[in-house]
Amino acid sequence: MDWLSERHLAGAVLDALTASICIVDPNGDIVAVNQAWRRFSHENGGKGGYVGENYLDVCKRATGTGADAAHRFGRNVEDVLAGRRDRFETEYPCHAPRLRRWFLARVVWVHPAGNEVDDHKGRFAVISHQDITTRKLLEFELKRLAETDELTGLKNRRKFLERTGKALVRLRRDGVPASMFIIDLDDFKAINDTHGHAVGDQALCYAADQLKRSTRRGDLLARIGGEEFAALLPNTDEWGAVMVAERARSALAASQAATDAGPLRLTASIGVTVLQTDDRGPDAALGRADEALYRAKDEGRNCVRASSASLSSPALA
Ligand code: GH3
Ligand code: MG
Ligand code: MG
Repeated sequence: MDWLSERHLAGAVLDALTASICIVDPNGDIVAVNQAWRRFSHENGGKGGYVGENYLDVCKRATGTGADAAHRFGRNVEDVLAGRRDRFETEYPCHAPRLRRWFLARVVWVHPAGNEVDDHKGRFAVISHQDITTRKLLEFELKRLAETDELTGLKNRRKFLERTGKALVRLRRDGVPASMFIIDLDDFKAINDTHGHAVGDQALCYAADQLKRSTRRGDLLARIGGEEFAALLPNTDEWGAVMVAERARSALAASQAATDAGPLRLTASIGVTVLQTDDRGPDAALGRADEALYRAKDEGRNCVRASSASLSSPALA
């Protein structure tokens, strides 16, 4: 195969790829682009760079939301060309007005023709941008499914434990307090037994909505078991958490769940605890909240009990 047809073949291969690819010379001037690159530049108002333009300047000129990332990317291209690094890879969002999209950008250095020794001089670089939107959206969806309770839309037990673990780290490192409470619906089995599981599910969704209304934006609310919910309250001491729990308890008790079996009255027992620096993990705090919850059940249900006995005032019941 002669030189000309080799070059033709290489161009055809580049054009066949879906990634947008360009080659820059040691100054960052674009010396070749593939068809995908030309199409992307055209569709995006020519901001992607054409042959003859300086790619580093294109990055520096970037304005708007992606500007910082573009400036950073330009510096990394410079690093590869200067031999400070051999390759660079990053995923970045690049949203169009009506389209959310993400790209994987890669920069790899290449030998200049006839110079097979890398003396960090005269390096060229291949830059590619691959659309990874489909994979990104799937990743987000998987993450959402992995941390969401399907029935109520609240976070699930796994997410609750993860966030509690992080709150423990912040408590130990920065002394930021956090509290939690566990909410267990009272005599819930009777609702299922009387009205059936589907009505029970409606009652669970109603309870979840009520609890959402009683907690604040920064609080994390999760369904951690069948008819068991939990709340993590950052920056809140045990007394503050007892107040929030009491608000949730009384709001639930004062209302009625609209279900296919008609309005149903629900009550809950709640156990509160504050995270402690010597908690070995989220389970330690959860165990204390559970003990307080069992006291609430023992002492008549539809009440709040805290793991610090002094806070478990009968007046809160
Ligand atoms: P207590 O006041 O002691 O908490 O009594 P309880 O009846 O609420 O407690 P128990 O643990 O005996 O029963 C919990 C019931 O919650 C059992 C089950 O029928 C019901 N349950 C658990 N998960 C679900 C669910 O996903 N959907 C429905 N509809 N019911 C559920
Ligand atoms: Mg239970
Ligand atoms: Mg129960």
